[in-house]
Amino acid sequence: MADKKGNSKALIIVLAVLLVLGGIGGAAYYFYQKDAPKRELAALGYNEQQITVIMNSKLADEVIENSPSELFSYALSDSIKNISHTDFYLIADSKRTQNLSVKEHFDILKKMLESGYDSADCHTLIENLSLEELNSLLRMEKPANLEVFTEGVAHGFDINDSLKLSEGNSELAKMIFDGAIDFELVRPLLDKQYSADDILSLIKNLSEEDYLFILNMKYIPELAQLSSMENFDMNLLPRYLMSLRSNRSDINDVVNWVNNDNDYIPASEIDYSAMYHDETIPDDYMSYTACINKQYALPADYVPSDLEQLPYGYHVLDHPMRHVAANAFVNMSDGSVVAGYERILAQSNYRSYDHQKSLYDMYVEQDGVKGADTYSARPGHSEHQTGLVTDIGTGSLDMLYLENYSGYQWLLENAHKYGFIQRYPEGKEYITGYEYEPWHFRYVGVESATLMYEHNWTLDEYSLLFN
Ligand SMILES: [Zn+2]
Repeated sequence: MADKKGNSKALIIVLAVLLVLGGIGGAAYYFYQKDAPKRELAALGYNEQQITVIMNSKLADEVIENSPSELFSYALSDSIKNISHTDFYLIADSKRTQNLSVKEHFDILKKMLESGYDSADCHTLIENLSLEELNSLLRMEKPANLEVFTEGVAHGFDINDSLKLSEGNSELAKMIFDGAIDFELVRPLLDKQYSADDILSLIKNLSEEDYLFILNMKYIPELAQLSSMENFDMNLLPRYLMSLRSNRSDINDVVNWVNNDNDYIPASEIDYSAMYHDETIPDDYMSYTACINKQYALPADYVPSDLEQLPYGYHVLDHPMRHVAANAFVNMSDGSVVAGYERILAQSNYRSYDHQKSLYDMYVEQDGVKGADTYSARPGHSEHQTGLVTDIGTGSLDMLYLENYSGYQWLLENAHKYGFIQRYPEGKEYITGYEYEPWHFRYVGVESATLMYEHNWTLDEYSLLFN
């Protein structure tokens, strides 16, 4: 019995020992397993501090899977105290571009992540933009529609174009990406500050011919809305704008209002003096197409630098013209002879500010301000001061009787070919602010003159679209 008791005691002890050993072994095994990632990380070359960061951010599995990762190691060493986005660097390494060093890639990625770009955007942008472009992008506001922006970049558009495409309506961008419209037909309008919505509406509403035409115009804020109106007529666009900007009509009515000639004012009812208002000096006052009228004046001291006398036989008075205009007039005068008519002569061309002042003052003395304003310009407002004007006569006709000239029709139909327009035509007095002057021709250059001739636009109208 005593032996049996002794045996059971020994058995209990053995079992207890085994239990303890098993417990220790199990615990050891448990801790051994738990440290496996750390050992793997250590084997991959990460130091203790880095391993702690990786374990704390629960990235061990990804790190093991994606290592070796230069970018990640760099991020880890650099931003050890701030490990936000560390996972991005890890994944980014597999997509690193050869164009950037690890440091460059890390720095730009860090900046982008801090600016709110997500990892997918970062990859697309880094793949498609140079470091310089990425840095300039980061100085700008984040694109309005990043999806469109990155798609633009991926399609090979530069950063500014992609930014523009990402603003507003993405439908336009999609059309461009799909090749439905050539970007080169959109770019000029984007450059002129039209929004994507505006452009989309212009594409939808304008004929192809009109659309191509507006590419050369300046930015017209009202254009998109006007072009969406039924019966919109490109030829009448300047008159729509004039009526709108003088508050004679509003945007919902103006197209039909002008189409029905409601803006027209007969010459006899025009208040010519009232047309002087908000006078300013235009920026382009020295250009060949400068519009000098009752709203736009020349500086009192402006004298064109290239004035020259016309050759003998081409003029009545000794008034010079600017070089280009003088040449053009000589050609036009020769043209009148070739066409079989009496030679046209330049009767009155450049006038200085002071000369115009003395003329105007004299007319005011004769006819009062209201009377003088119908036919004479106040100083600074005379086109003659541009040096681009000629009042035309002939050897046998004073300019005042030019309508009786046998080649008058020829002149009206051909002046644009030499770069001249009749500046104050009949029926346009309410636009020009001057009575009909058959004799007064203005040089604007062949291209502009032809455009005005073909559209029946005065310089005032043309300049609303082009100057
Ligand atoms: Zn004149």
